[in-house]
Amino acid sequence: MPQLNENFLKLEKNYLFINIAKKIKAFKEVNPSADIIRMGIGDVTLPIAPVVIEAMKKGCDEMGVKETFKGYEDSGAGYDFLREAVSGYYKSFGADVPASEIRINDGAKSDCGNIVDIFGNDNTILVTDPAYPVYVDSNLMSGRKIIYADSNEENGFAAMPDHSVHADIIYLCSPNNPTGSVYTRSQLKEWIDYAKKNDAVIIYDSAYEAFITDPDVPRSIYCIEGAREVAIEMCSLSKTAGFTGMRCGYTVVPEALKFRASDGTEVSVAQLWGRRQGSKFNGVSYPVQCAAAAVFTDEGLKQIHENIAYYQENARIIAGTMTKLGVKFTGGVNSPYIWFKCPNDMKSWDFFDLMLEKIAVVGTPGAGFGKNGEGWFRLTAFGDRQRTIEAMARFEKLAAELK
Ligand code: PLP
Repeated sequence: MPQLNENFLKLEKNYLFINIAKKIKAFKEVNPSADIIRMGIGDVTLPIAPVVIEAMKKGCDEMGVKETFKGYEDSGAGYDFLREAVSGYYKSFGADVPASEIRINDGAKSDCGNIVDIFGNDNTILVTDPAYPVYVDSNLMSGRKIIYADSNEENGFAAMPDHSVHADIIYLCSPNNPTGSVYTRSQLKEWIDYAKKNDAVIIYDSAYEAFITDPDVPRSIYCIEGAREVAIEMCSLSKTAGFTGMRCGYTVVPEALKFRASDGTEVSVAQLWGRRQGSKFNGVSYPVQCAAAAVFTDEGLKQIHENIAYYQENARIIAGTMTKLGVKFTGGVNSPYIWFKCPNDMKSWDFFDLMLEKIAVVGTPGAGFGKNGEGWFRLTAFGDRQRTIEAMARFEKLAAELK
């Protein structure tokens, strides 16, 4: 009989969104005609930009011709044309990231989960709480010790380091999922200094960087001095360009990132990560990489920004409703998420049930993202404009009833 990895038994039985789906299904069985508005899962809804689709079609056509057909990509890190395009994109917002340090992947979730392979199991992992569940789950699966930095109402859901506590691997996400909060330059600098002092590595998730509008909020950790020696960054085209169903992202491991093995030799993290990917990942399809490269052309950027602006306007509408009702919230600017305090000190899942029952609006209970999420709730701005307006009208009615 095979021995199981019993660390999996320590995980929540179901991924958060499976529990939500079950509740919706049960509600629909009892209320088949209910007009449910879904503002739970952070998935995009607008179609992919035409210039991106054209590039993908062209890539497909090339696959059907002997002279331009592509099999495995040699380096396994992604085509140079895409790595160069990503490097140019970084440069446009002040981050110096050479193409050689970028590896293309099938979206940020895989690398967020897989990066733990190259680090030993005795590391202490620091996760800000609440957090995107993958950081916690992937480390629980390998039995690592996790400590938490509290993101809460007092610090505007932007946890800062506790200098009396040591960590080896630190997960940061800005703009944050689920709280919509962001780190400013000076806050990120403090995390970088903490990482240096502790000889730690930061795993920085910038999946929502495209939603940043505030000039004091960096789009990449590499906009901050010293980050190259301590940080790995993961980003994705999922939210930037509607690639949730296409699957393409990128991870940056700077050459300067080096740690010592137990025998004292210096080891390049990029080399280790490249070795891991070489063994376990065979790259992203050529047509998808063609599509991804089109995102970073002038026309591509113009077209994706039309979609981003649409979601930003939805976020503004949701945030406006919260402000009008005097509900405490973070996010809504620099982020497609609005994270608000449940009325009357209700618990997150109780408020989920109430919203579903009374106004047929689905959101995500904050408690699903960690202990500090209890009593808070996440709505996404990725939906349809009219449905967002309708949801907010229903929310106002519910808020009036709860007074
Ligand atoms: N990181 C964060 C913070 C996310 O919220 C998500 C998706 O919702 C991802 C990473 C993963 O995105 P993908 O795998 O689609 O690139």
